Parts: sequence; structure tokens; C-alpha cells
Amino acid sequence: MDIRLTNTLSRDKQIFVPIDPGRVTMYLCGPTVYSFAHIGNARPPVVFDVLFRLLRLKYGEEAVVYASNITDIDDKIIQEAARSGRSLKDITTTYEGIYREDMRALGVLEPTFRPRATEHVDGMIGLMTRLEQLGHAYRTPNGLMFSVPSMPTYGRLSRRDRDEQVAGARVDVDDGKRDPADFALWKASKPDEPAEARWTSPFGEGRPGWHIECSAMAAAALGETIDIHGGGLDLIFPHHENEIAQSECAHGRPMANVWLHNGFLSMDAQKMSKSLGNVAHVHDMLKRYDGETIRLALLSAHYRGPLDWTDALLAQSQATLDRLYNALRRISSAQPADEPPPAGVLNALCDDLNTPQALAELSALAAEANKADPADWPRLRAQMKAAGDLLGLLSKDPEVWARGDEATARRIDERVAARLEARRSKNFAEADRIRRELEGEGVEVMDSPQGSTWRRIRGLGQ
Ligand SMILES: [Zn+2]
Repeated sequence: MDIRLTNTLSRDKQIFVPIDPGRVTMYLCGPTVYSFAHIGNARPPVVFDVLFRLLRLKYGEEAVVYASNITDIDDKIIQEAARSGRSLKDITTTYEGIYREDMRALGVLEPTFRPRATEHVDGMIGLMTRLEQLGHAYRTPNGLMFSVPSMPTYGRLSRRDRDEQVAGARVDVDDGKRDPADFALWKASKPDEPAEARWTSPFGEGRPGWHIECSAMAAAALGETIDIHGGGLDLIFPHHENEIAQSECAHGRPMANVWLHNGFLSMDAQKMSKSLGNVAHVHDMLKRYDGETIRLALLSAHYRGPLDWTDALLAQSQATLDRLYNALRRISSAQPADEPPPAGVLNALCDDLNTPQALAELSALAAEANKADPADWPRLRAQMKAAGDLLGLLSKDPEVWARGDEATARRIDERVAARLEARRSKNFAEADRIRRELEGEGVEVMDSPQGSTWRRIRGLGQ
């Protein structure tokens, strides 16, 4: 079972070979915690969680070391503190907590390490000192800058030529740059910035730039060369290009052997932006949809391609999960056999994390379960569960899933009781009306001498 991954560095699909199969390392750039995570922010952690699960299956749970950081010092956090009057610590603690809660609800396993930038400032200063000693960094009144011309291979990941690099680098007036492509490693404190955002360093009082944070945290958690480094497409330039520049110039060896990038997420075919008012927060979405529904929607497209987020996609994902859980419910009386994940699902994921194909394979298993004789139930139940574990789905009790969320379930209980009452008082027209109404919502009512029960059937016929 070879795992093939598309490496952004080489632009082709390669068999993944870790440096040490006994210690496979992966790093994913984490969130800057100054606000709620939107659904686009959730795509990388969910995609890389599937890869984490796949690597653990192949190399063993203990052999995979996964780090994803928390950026808790950054311009945006300082701006939020100035705007709201809250302390930096208050803002970052609040939003880190919410982020971790949201990720848990999406079925994202806790990474092995979750380093916080503010706890690694010493390591960042160490890296910068080394870069300065080696002639890759220089001081300005505004802090410490990385000298892009000092690295001949700069731009290898993004394949941007010199003009594009300059156009992409932010140029502030009078920032003391020697070259327009140079970028900040250390930012000198400004008089109006809070004490919480100041550290002393050989380059003066200030704070680290965003890029050096990841270089230092990845090295501290995983080592100087890691197997896999991931992130969204938008991070290739300048963030990942700059991480490579810092790490490779300081350590004299590659920062990562495989670079993986997930595609963009759009909202009803538009770019998600505050000005368009179409930013969807995961935290709000979780009040309306189960985390597994959101997760399945995020995995419905191949990670490298774009994903258009719509209400229809969520409805479809909910219907798919209903269908999977209904099939699992049919065969749930069987004792699961000892089965590895089905080959179809595994092959799909090993082929550059083809999650749409893996989901199609899982749906085919569900269709089989809906028709199978009881003799096949133990195998099918085990295979569906194993496939679900790999994808981070089907973790709930099918009986609980069939009732839906608690508020809806209580409302349906009340409607079913009202219908029963109508029947008892021989108001059959009213009883039929309620039944039809519930059917319209995808709820089937079943009568028996003991009373009436119900189940969700939405998605069954699709
Ligand atoms: Zn990063």
C-alpha cells in the first residue's frame, strides 16, 4: 500500500517515502486566533486530519508525529486588542479555545503537538541570530529583515520570478529594505503597542514576524527536515516560500520533502469576504448542522481542487450521512468481524487522498448493506466502521443519528404524540395531515400496538 501525494515542489504525484518510517513528521500552519474560524479555515485541518489518520494506519499510531501551531502573536491580534480594549491574552485564549472546540466537533484528531508562537520566541531569536551571522539577515530601524538576494534558490516552491516576488512582497514606505523582495523577521515595537506584544532581543525590543514563527515551531516540534508540510494554496507565496528561506538558510538542509496544498473554498461561487458579508463561521454552522455533515461536505471535493460551499452541498451531505447511518442501523445487530478498511476506500485515499472516490466506495458499501443477508452483516459492519474511522465519519450511534439533533427530535416527538391523540379521538383527517406533514420533513411514523415511533428517512431514496 504505497501512498502517493502531489508535491507542490515538483508539481507531480510521487510515492511518499518518509525519512524514518518509525517517526513520520507532518506540519500544518495553524490559525491566527483573533476571531472565529470560517469554513475556509476548516478545510486544511480536516483534509490533513484524513492524511494523519491514513499515515497512522500505515506506519502505526505512535510513529506519526503531527504538529499544527497556534499563531497567538500577530498584527491582526494587536489590531483586535486596540479595537476592543481587551488584552492579547484574553483574545487569543478565547479564540484558541473556540477553535479547538470547533475542530473537535468536526472530528479532527488532536495533533501530537499544538505549539503556541509566544512559547517559542527564544527559538525564533536563535534562528534569526544564526541567519544574521550567516549573512542572510540585516538590521534596520524597524527590526530585522531577511535578505532575499542572499538565497539564490528563493522562489523554488512558488516558481515566481523576480518581478512577481517583488510585486507580491508588501512594501511599506521607509521600511529600510535593501531589496524590495526582502521580508521582516523581527518587527521593532511601536510606541502604541501593548507590553504584552514586546520581547527583548539582540535586534531590539519587538516581536517576531509570522513566517519565522512557523520555521521555529516546526523545527522545535519535528526537527530540521520534516516529511510533509501542508497548508492552503494561498500560503505558498509568500508564507511557505519565506519559511523555506529562513529554515534552509539557517539549517543548511531542506525544510520539508513534501509540500501539500489544498485548494480554495468559495461561497456560492463568490470569494468569502467581510465586505460581501458572506463569511460563514464554523461555530455558527455547528448550531445548525452536525460536525460530521460539515466534515463530509469539506471532503466531498478533492483537496487540491476548489470547493464551492452552498446550502445544497450541506443538504446533500446530510442526506448522504443519513443514508450511511440508515444502512449501518440495518446491520447493527451483527457483531462486527475483525476487518481492515475495505480496499476500495484505502486505495482511493492512498491515491493522493481521493476523498470523493473514498466516499463513493463507502456509499457502495452502504448500498450492499441495505440488501445483504444477515450472514454478511458482520463483515459489512466492520468494513463500514473501518472506512468511517479513516475518514473521520460514522462515529455516532446510528440510533442516536436517526433521531437527529435533540431540539428537532423533541419537536417531532410532540407532533407524533399529537397525531396519536388525534387517532384516539377518531380525528383521522387530522392524524393523516400530521403524518403527511412529517413525511414532508423526511420523517416516517411507524404504528404498533405499543404506540407510535418514528425515524428519519431523508436521503434513503437518493
Ligand atoms: Zn506556517
